[in-house]
Amino acid sequence: YSRLRLILGDQLNENHSWFAKVDEETVYCLFETYSEATYTRHHIQKITGFFLAMRAFAARLRDLGHDVLYFTLDDTREAGWETITDAVDAVRQREGVTTFEYQYPDEWRLDQELIKYSEKAGGVVCDSEHFLSRRHDVADLFKGKDRYLMETFYREMRRRHDILMDANGEPATGQWNYDEDNRGRLPAELSIPAASTFERDAGEVVELLERHDIPTMGRMPGGRFTYPVTREECLEALKDFCGNRLVYFGTYQDAMTRRDPLLYHANLSFATNTKLLSPREVIDAAVRSWKQDPERITFNQVEGFVRQILGWREYMRGVYWAKMPEFATTNALEHRAALPGWYWTGDTKMNCLNHAINQSLDRAYAHHIQRLMITGNFALILGAHPDEVDAWYLGVYIDAIEWVEITNTRGMSQRADGGLIATKPYCSSANYINKMSDYCKDCHYNPKKHTGEKACPFNSLYWDFLDRHRERFEGNYRMAFMYKTWERKGAAQQAAILERAAWVKEHAEEL
Ligand code: FAD
Ligand code: SF4
Repeated sequence: YSRLRLILGDQLNENHSWFAKVDEETVYCLFETYSEATYTRHHIQKITGFFLAMRAFAARLRDLGHDVLYFTLDDTREAGWETITDAVDAVRQREGVTTFEYQYPDEWRLDQELIKYSEKAGGVVCDSEHFLSRRHDVADLFKGKDRYLMETFYREMRRRHDILMDANGEPATGQWNYDEDNRGRLPAELSIPAASTFERDAGEVVELLERHDIPTMGRMPGGRFTYPVTREECLEALKDFCGNRLVYFGTYQDAMTRRDPLLYHANLSFATNTKLLSPREVIDAAVRSWKQDPERITFNQVEGFVRQILGWREYMRGVYWAKMPEFATTNALEHRAALPGWYWTGDTKMNCLNHAINQSLDRAYAHHIQRLMITGNFALILGAHPDEVDAWYLGVYIDAIEWVEITNTRGMSQRADGGLIATKPYCSSANYINKMSDYCKDCHYNPKKHTGEKACPFNSLYWDFLDRHRERFEGNYRMAFMYKTWERKGAAQQAAILERAAWVKEHAEEL
C-alpha cells in the first residue's frame, strides 16, 4: 500500500468521498486502543457500542471492496500500542506506507494528538463531511460577543440550508420558534409506542474488556446490547422515529415519566455521533414525514426536531471549537462540592434522581430534560465541581463524545462558562419537576415542603443557589421574579430554608 487512511471510532460514514472508489493502493485502518477505552470511565454499553459499530463498519467496507486492517483491543495491547498514533506509526512502518491521511477529529484531544504526529511524521487532513456547518462558523458569527445566542445561529442555518423556509426566504409558517407549544405535560392516557431495538449478545466484547481490565460504569441487563450499530439498522431506527414518535416529539419534548425512558424522543444521537447517519438525512426524513402527513405531524413537532439538530447540535460543536481548550477548565460559579456517590449507583431516596440515574446506568440513555433538569439541575444547585459533573456525563451516555458532552454539561447545564450559552441558569425547585413529571407522586420527600425532614432537597438547594449567587444573577431580567419571590419569604423563613440547605449539602451522600 502507498496510502494509509485512519478511521476513528466516530467516523463511520460510508458515504464519505474517501469510499467513492476502490483503490488498491489504499488501506483503511481502525484500531481499538487502550487510550480510547480508558480516557474516562465509560459506560459498558458505550465502549461495547463503539467497538461493535467499528467492527461492523470494517466488514461493510470490505464488502464494498476496500482493503481494511482492523485491530482489536487484543491486537493493539499485544503489540504494545497505547494510543492511536502509536498504532498508525507502527502499521505505516510495517507496511512501508508513505502517505497518511485522516479526517478532522471532533475531539480536541485527538485533534492535538494527530496534529503533533503529522508535524513529525507527515499527514494530510480532510473534512469528515458530516456537519452542516464548519468548525469555526460559530466563532465567526459571534466574534467579539460575550454571549453566543443559539437562536441567531439557528436562523442563519435555516436560511443557509433552506430548511423549513418558504419561497421568499422567510420561515415556513412565518414563525421561527415553537418553544411555547413544546412544553406539554404528558396525559396519563396517552400511549407511548415501543421503539425498535436491535438486540445482540455482547458477551465477546464484555469478555475482551474484562481481559484487559478496562474500568467501566453502568450495566448491560442480560448482556444484551440493543442500539443500532450498522447503517441499515440506523436507517430502520430513523424510520421508526419518523413513523411513530415524531408525531408528539415537540409537544412532549420536556415531559418526563416513569412509564417510559424514551417517550417521543429519537434516540438517534449514537447513530449521528458515530456518523452512521448524517444530520442532513435525519432532518430531511423528518421534514418529509411532515410534508407527507401535515395533519398528523404538525409543524411544531418537526420544527422542534430540526431545531435540535440543525440548531443545538451544530451550535454546540461550534462553541466547542471556539472555546477549547479553555472551556474544559472553566468554573465561573466556583463550585467545589463533590458529586454524591449515588450518581454512580442510583441509590438515592429522591425518586426523580433515582429514576433518571438508574435508567442511565441500565440504558446509557436519558433524554434531554432528564439530563438538564434532574441530574444536571441537582448538581448545579448543590454546587458540584464541574470536573466531577463532566466526568459523569462523559462516561454515562452512549452518545457522550466530548464536543457535545462538555458544551452541554459545563456550559448549558452547570453554567461554568459564565453564561456564554444560556441566558439564565437551568435551575429549578421541585415545583417544575412535579409539573413536568410523575416522579414526585410517591417520593420519600414532599415536593411542597421547603423545610423539615421530609422537605424535597431541590427546594432548599434552589433558594440557597440563588441566594449565594445573588450578585451574579440579581440583575438578570429573566431572574428578577425569582429574587422577588425570595424577598417575599421574609428573614425568618429564608433563614430556615438556608439552614435546611446547609443540612442537605452536608448530608448529600445520604439523601
Ligand atoms: P432527541 O431529543 O430526540 O433530539 C434529537 C437530536 O437532536 C439528538 O439525537 C441530538 O443529536 C440533537 N440534540 C438535541 N439536543 C441537543 C443538545 N442540547 N446538544 C446537541 N445536540 C442535541 N448529547 C449528545 O449527543 N452527547 C452528549 O454527551 C450529551 N450530553 C449532554 C449532557 C447534558 C448535561 C445535557 C443537558 C444534554 C446533553 N446532550 C448530549 C444533549 C441531548 O440531551 C442529547 O443529544 C439527547 O438527549 C440524545 O437523545 P435523543 O437522540 O433521543 O435526542
Ligand atoms: Fe424529586 Fe423532590 Fe419530586 Fe422527590 S419530591 S421526586 S426529590 S423533585
